[in-house]
Amino acid sequence: RAAGFPSRKTLDDFIFDHQPALKRDQIIHLGGGLFLEQARNIVLLGPPGTGKTHLAIGLGIKAAHAGHRVLFGTAVEWVARLQDAHHRGRLAEEIVRLRRYGLIIVDEVGYIPFEQDAANLLFQLVSSRYEHASLILTSNLPFARWGDVFGDQVVAAAMIDRIVHHADVISLKGASYRLKDSGITTLPS
Ligand code: ADP
Ligand code: MG
Repeated sequence: RAAGFPSRKTLDDFIFDHQPALKRDQIIHLGGGLFLEQARNIVLLGPPGTGKTHLAIGLGIKAAHAGHRVLFGTAVEWVARLQDAHHRGRLAEEIVRLRRYGLIIVDEVGYIPFEQDAANLLFQLVSSRYEHASLILTSNLPFARWGDVFGDQVVAAAMIDRIVHHADVISLKGASYRLKDSGITTLPS
């Protein structure tokens, strides 16, 4: 739990048959951790309940087992952490400190819209890690809608540009796994 994972989910627990569009080999390869040596990123996109957080945690656990320093947080938690550092006059220091972590996971970009200062803070985090250390991000929204989330099209575009330059972008599809046995087949979109 040192990495802040909200629950324990492993790649071994993931049922790939439930996510047929997903390439099992790609996930297994990523689990090998080469992306961390190359400071590449992983972006998991898709509707709620399709396994984004599960895969992010599973990859994070693998990375931690391989000896990498890993930190998990939601986008909202990361913004709060950076805002706190900013208010203490220690933003630059905090961002440098976070570079010592080989993997930072930013879960749930898109559920809660940000104010512009939040967009700027996350941009600085992304920017400082670019070609230096890895990020895993998850979002329910396609990149085209990140501008709305960040309230700033220019900052969002610059952030996405850096994130995807060296990244695996993986789109999950289908109905929520959470609703699997509920009889409900669609959620509002
Ligand atoms: P998301 O982050 O995309 O909203 P989660 O990763 O939190 O979804 O998945 C929701 C729940 O369903 C979790 O308990 C997760 O472990 C489980 N789950 C989702 N997809 C799968 C899958 N393909 N195999 C096994 N469990 C899954
Ligand atoms: Mg999630």
